Amino acid sequence: MPVTPRLLQIDLGPGVLAGFTTRENGVSVGPWHGLNLGDHVGDEPGAVAQNRRSLAERVGAPVRFLRQVHGVDVLVPDPAVPGPAVPDPVLVPDPGPQQGHDAIVLRAGAGAGAVMVADCAPVLLADPQAGLVAAAHAGRVGLLAGVLQATVERMRALGAQPRRIRAAVGPCAGPCCYEVGEELRALAAEVLPDTWARTRSGTASIDLRAGCRQALGQVGVRRVEVLDRCTVEDDSFYSYRRSSITGRFVGVIRSLT
Ligand SMILES: [Zn+2]
Repeated sequence: MPVTPRLLQIDLGPGVLAGFTTRENGVSVGPWHGLNLGDHVGDEPGAVAQNRRSLAERVGAPVRFLRQVHGVDVLVPDPAVPGPAVPDPVLVPDPGPQQGHDAIVLRAGAGAGAVMVADCAPVLLADPQAGLVAAAHAGRVGLLAGVLQATVERMRALGAQPRRIRAAVGPCAGPCCYEVGEELRALAAEVLPDTWARTRSGTASIDLRAGCRQALGQVGVRRVEVLDRCTVEDDSFYSYRRSSITGRFVGVIRSLT
């Protein structure tokens, strides 16, 4: 029997379970070895399903995964449509097969939501007082397109207050390693100046973490914890930059109350 997945837990307030998975304690093998939670990366479907089941058991609820497209659309599952029964919590389908989403906002009791990443930034948010939690997939493209602002806006529309929201930016490609051309760095900095960075060797790079912090600040979210874990250098995590055939880890969140 596989052991329980490891979750790097983050405190986002009372009644909120939030964290980031690592590669540890999964059943995938080969280039995906470990707790691969991506079902679109060539891994054995049965292994992914087992890993997702283990995650659901770890968080104590079915976990909704998204069809991520580096966009800004936010899924708010209809509370009138119940999730699957707990014995088969694995595949809660994205309701529109055609439509992708890069963030999910969940009300209390609506189960857990996850975003899959391998160098992009997983961002978790919570306003426990409003009973709302969210997860967003913020790679360079989605971040610059405004996925984090869109997520906070949806939370606000449902009763959250930005000044109450606490957020965490999880492991992602750090500015040390996220090398890009100078033109791309300049384009990103036009939208979010704080993304401007240099790699350790002095070449142009993008700072996703600083960009996430800046984007959240633009919509009034200032309580942001940033994990200083670079996926490219830290093989506790999957990294697309390190190897193009690889798995995905997740940021996962659930409101317990
Ligand atoms: Zn690095």
